[in-house]
Amino acid sequence: MAHRVASRMQQLGTETAFEVLVRARALEAEGRDVVHLEIGEPDFDTPGHIVRAAQEALEGGWTHYGPSLGQQDLRAAIAQEVARTRGIAVDPAQVVVTPGAKPIMFYTIMALAEPGDEVIYPNPGFPIYESMISFVGATPVPLPLREQNAFRFDPEEFRALLSDRTRLVILNSPANPTGGVLGAADLAAVAEVARERDLVVLSDEIYGRILYEGEFASVAALDGMAERTVILDGFSKTYAMTGWRLGYGIYPRWLLPHVDRLIVNSVSCTAAFAQRGALAALTGSQEPVAQMVAEFRRRRDFVVDGLNRIPGISCLRPRGAFYVFPNVSRLGMSSKALADLLLQEAGVATLSGTAFGSYGEGYLRLSYANSLENLGKALERIAGAVERLPA
Ligand code: PLP
Repeated sequence: MAHRVASRMQQLGTETAFEVLVRARALEAEGRDVVHLEIGEPDFDTPGHIVRAAQEALEGGWTHYGPSLGQQDLRAAIAQEVARTRGIAVDPAQVVVTPGAKPIMFYTIMALAEPGDEVIYPNPGFPIYESMISFVGATPVPLPLREQNAFRFDPEEFRALLSDRTRLVILNSPANPTGGVLGAADLAAVAEVARERDLVVLSDEIYGRILYEGEFASVAALDGMAERTVILDGFSKTYAMTGWRLGYGIYPRWLLPHVDRLIVNSVSCTAAFAQRGALAALTGSQEPVAQMVAEFRRRRDFVVDGLNRIPGISCLRPRGAFYVFPNVSRLGMSSKALADLLLQEAGVATLSGTAFGSYGEGYLRLSYANSLENLGKALERIAGAVERLPA
């Protein structure tokens, strides 16, 4: 029997990191040793006080359904945190807690974009943006992020992409996959246009605390932007809680009832005991975050210096997140072929830059959320594989 699925499923993309992880695990099952630089998650364990808070919550009966938008005290703590870190006023009623931050993308794009609408999104960028824009039938309009501009967009190029059909602009800073950070002038350009044209901005700020230089800045803090910005953030990266599935959005009031219905129709609410852990994360010591970021900085420098010593590879020093995006175009093969070769022949799992969109050709993405020892091993293996390439 031919099994038919809805035609919209053809529009849905995926996240290659999970596919490469499966291939890497298959090689490991055959006895091969693989260094994992493909998946975007901190290698640290969730800090103990957060784990204990969730354990106590489970034993204390936090095992039932809760409010769809999140527990009240957690929403209040998130509002306070976002207000403090962005310098804006946030009402706890604007906070929406979700299982991971990804649903915030899903709900925002679903609630705002439809066939005929255009959505501007960063390319290379997190693959789910383009996937979701296509899924809802809207038109994805890539905003190129180029190495010569430290992977920030060019404000002139951004303006040239606008049309009467532009509905939503997606920003991500610090960025996956490049580690690039947008500057004040970039944010101002987006805010100016958003005000003029009555656009909404989805600002993915999930790496906001993983920043090595300067202060974090959100487009939401600019004049008139609070009522047209959705801030996406969460616990996965900052508190090493990827498997807990805990994220949040800060929504303008007019969008809240729509997001609420999307939640009720999909997940109902976020796990109750996990939210108690999230509260402990925000109200407890921030020392583990500081230590993790300091360690990431050491690894960043180690990896960038190591990559720049390999003939044919050059790598910028990213200002945020835990990825590097080295230029491998001089090696004379496609990014995908190189990533495949490094996995198969050298036992290093990386992602092709094209996993993040067409503007990623010529680059690889390496996550340095791995020990210095493993990073050293990966650099040696990459150098060896590059040396063996036919001239
Ligand atoms: N946004 C960006 C830019 C990311 O890189 C990720 C995860 O890799 C997410 C959002 C999703 O985070 P979560 O695991 O909380 O859903």
